[in-house]
Amino acid sequence: PIKTDCPLDREELGKATWSFLHTMASYFPEKPTKAQSEDMSRFFNIFSQFYPCESCADDFRKDVKENPPKTANRNELAKWLCQRHNVVNVKLGKPEFDCSRVHERWRDGWLDGSCP
Ligand code: FAD
Repeated sequence: PIKTDCPLDREELGKATWSFLHTMASYFPEKPTKAQSEDMSRFFNIFSQFYPCESCADDFRKDVKENPPKTANRNELAKWLCQRHNVVNVKLGKPEFDCSRVHERWRDGWLDGSCP
């Protein structure tokens, strides 16, 4: 059947959201101001209150409480977020992602040149 524009299911919402979050982290400044670092921490705390999948948000809030956002610079933020996503991957039985390649996936493209 032709897929028309419909409300997102949990998987579609998750994929779209992770794409946005990881891309945002990979473009976070390498040398953020104090205000940028504080705002990014707040962003994730607020995000975790309103993510529109209740059980997902409940677990994510607990995880973020135990592992607060690391917003000192781009690499720290991208690594922190990759680890949070891996917590969800493990919970869902999905493979863990190699966090040393997170900027290749979301900003630079793979080193083998396979991305346009
Ligand atoms: P996704 O997990 O959506 O990943 C998309 C792409 O990101 C992958 O193809 C891969 O290239 C890349 N990627 C994978 N892992 C990483 C990583 N660690 N770091 C960087 N990039 C990576 N679903 C549930 O059923 N239960 C939940 O409790 C739940 N909690 C969620 C909490 C949050 C905050 C979010 C954003 C989503 C949550 N989801 C949850 C949705 C779930 O994580 C997936 O998005 C969904 O199952 C679709 O999975 P996918 O296989 O398309 O790939």
